[in-house]
Amino acid sequence: MNKIDRLIKKEAKPFLKQYHEILNEIKKFDKIALFRHIMPDFDAMGTQMGLYIWLKDNFPNKEIRYLGDNHVSFTPRLFPETEKLNEDWFNEPFLAIILDTANKSRIADPRWAKASLIIKIDHHPAVEQFGHINLVNTKMAAASEIVVNMLLSIKGKYILSKEAASNFYIALAGDSGRFQYNSTTPHTFAIAKELLKTGFTLSNVYQKMYYKKIEDLKVTAYVLNNFKVSEHGVAYYVLSDEVQKELNITTERGKENVNIFSNIEGINVWCSITEDIKDKCYRISIRSKEKAINEVAAKYEGGGHAQASGAKIKTLDQLEQFIKDLDDLFI
Ligand code: AMP
Repeated sequence: MNKIDRLIKKEAKPFLKQYHEILNEIKKFDKIALFRHIMPDFDAMGTQMGLYIWLKDNFPNKEIRYLGDNHVSFTPRLFPETEKLNEDWFNEPFLAIILDTANKSRIADPRWAKASLIIKIDHHPAVEQFGHINLVNTKMAAASEIVVNMLLSIKGKYILSKEAASNFYIALAGDSGRFQYNSTTPHTFAIAKELLKTGFTLSNVYQKMYYKKIEDLKVTAYVLNNFKVSEHGVAYYVLSDEVQKELNITTERGKENVNIFSNIEGINVWCSITEDIKDKCYRISIRSKEKAINEVAAKYEGGGHAQASGAKIKTLDQLEQFIKDLDDLFI
């Protein structure tokens, strides 16, 4: 690797020992499976696909696998379908690398537990340290920011192809809200710079990430006609199962319009509340301009980052209290 940015070196320093432990484990195993969280987002899928390509490019003789549920709209537009592996594959020794996932219950495929060795790489506040090696750095805006810092810092001649880099970039742009959240630091930009240097076309990446169909505008229209705002600027919209059917969308897509409210005067926090009849709950995505909302999320079976968290309520009876808890942050 050519001369790397000073900020990347500085950030890597306290983690170098762990990075090389991870590299050694990668070298040891012939079979490696990459996992990430359920209901995946750009970071979960982009980091997983970026690392998958990097491993294939640099260790062509190893068997690398990419697991977890497909995404309702990112697959196959942005990421290939995940692999349907039969049980035999997991009966031989393999290394599991689990990306962007704070706790065991959110890992998208349960077969990670069969691994001979487990490595967790994450940027969420540590809920459970389920790996033999736990590489956790909560200062990073995205899991991909950690992984790329590691890949650029380890000793040895490794290539970072533009295919791997563009996936890591999708992850980084996704979880930093296109470099808008306060989690974005000079280091985030240093990583973005290294990725961009590989030569992928930025406009192609963004077009694929934020592509919409004309019928998606009907969902946006519904949200704009039905949102509410609390006294101190908590905006929210509810998509009941019935409305989802009317609009022809799946539950996973309920949060797609949440950021409509991101730059509106007087709106401090914004949420999508989407009924999930399979899980008998309402899934909530919460975003914030400045104030940290993850503690409120944690009160409602959730968690996440200061400005982007997820939560759940069982019924709409809890909605008023949930909005009040967010609203109270601004009194
Ligand atoms: P979402 O609104 O689903 O896009 O989630 C926003 C952020 O919060 C992502 O980084 C998620 O990984 C995280 N998150 C969502 N739900 C949970 C949860 N139940 N526990 C911990 N983190 C979560």
